Amino acid sequence: MFCCTGRADHVQTPYEQKEGCSCLCGVVRVMILGEPLKTTLCHCQDCRKWTGSVGQMAVWYHREDVLCSGELAEFGTSSRVRKSCAECHSHILTSLPRAGLIEVCVGSASQLSLNAHFFYVTPMIDFGDDVPKFVDFPASLGGSGVQASSWDLHRDVTQAFHGSCLCGSVFVSISGEPKTTAFCHCLVCRSWTGSSGHFAVVFDEDLVQISGELISTRHGHRNCARCLACITSRHSAAAPGFLEVCGGILHSPPRVQAHWNYGQRILSVKDGLAKFKDLPTELGGSGDVLGQEMAAPYAVTLERKGEGHEDLGLELSFAGRKCRVLKVRRHSLIHDWNQSCACDSVVGIYDRLISINGRTPTTPEEGEALGRETGKLVLIFAKFQYFE
Ligand SMILES: [Zn+2]
Ligand SMILES: [Zn+2]
Ligand SMILES: [Zn+2]
Ligand SMILES: [Zn+2]
Repeated sequence: MFCCTGRADHVQTPYEQKEGCSCLCGVVRVMILGEPLKTTLCHCQDCRKWTGSVGQMAVWYHREDVLCSGELAEFGTSSRVRKSCAECHSHILTSLPRAGLIEVCVGSASQLSLNAHFFYVTPMIDFGDDVPKFVDFPASLGGSGVQASSWDLHRDVTQAFHGSCLCGSVFVSISGEPKTTAFCHCLVCRSWTGSSGHFAVVFDEDLVQISGELISTRHGHRNCARCLACITSRHSAAAPGFLEVCGGILHSPPRVQAHWNYGQRILSVKDGLAKFKDLPTELGGSGDVLGQEMAAPYAVTLERKGEGHEDLGLELSFAGRKCRVLKVRRHSLIHDWNQSCACDSVVGIYDRLISINGRTPTTPEEGEALGRETGKLVLIFAKFQYFE
């Protein structure tokens, strides 16, 4: 447990004290003069809407221990002031004037150990760690101090997606299905969002409608012109029609399906989802997935009344003579299964499909034929998992 007013001995120093940290463009520099108090990930709505991600991840300091140089853009709410680089819009810090504290965003940090999650009620990612998880804040910060004993990931059921930024002047609406969803751990995403990564909900660009004033950067990022909340991003020129909408601004986002650039992570996630070393091939990456196939298979049992009504939801790859899951479509039988089962039997990207009702598909045609079967379906998979 950390102490919120004193100085915790076991908090690692995430920034070199002489070097401090900087934004993506290098204009803003943060000098750290004192010891860190704690490192937290806050999953509250405001932090989600500002970072566009799962929440703000920050290292706390006394106000007098943090010095900033370079031009900052500010947005104040009742209790907090959010500050970003005026040039590249990297999220730099959140200040709590009444408490005399500053939360410095983790963007360029290299080593961190998290001390607490705040507002861990319906997290967008279940981190699978043993860090204390408060339902709001610790009592020393004016919260209830109650720790969450159980939690559920948000339900992923919506047919159309809507969202807005922290100040409410930018609105986003999308009338179609995401191509994929992922959490990207790269340095650029961390610096831009002020979180441990960027929650990318990838859509066909033509489906995304945005109103309100946006400002763009040379990194392909777009932020709200007023509150500087993260709105959209692009990882790659290799996929020009794909637009990444920030999942944290959506009222009811789809679930994260994979992790990108996991080799660059500062915070591990033990959620059983596929961990791409860099990016999937369709976004110009190597497509390499970290980890190994589990020896013990898992079973998925479904009841399908008729093929015409119920999509099984699996998109399969037969590369390397193994049948692997490329994607699980939303509004499908497997998608519903994934929302109600335990983490170790979630059908994930890159898991191997061993059989459907005892038969193993070896070609796309066989996969499609088996995927059309009705009645009772027993699917056997082998999970592909990364162990920290
Ligand atoms: Zn900058
Ligand atoms: Zn928060
Ligand atoms: Zn805004
Ligand atoms: Zn990234």
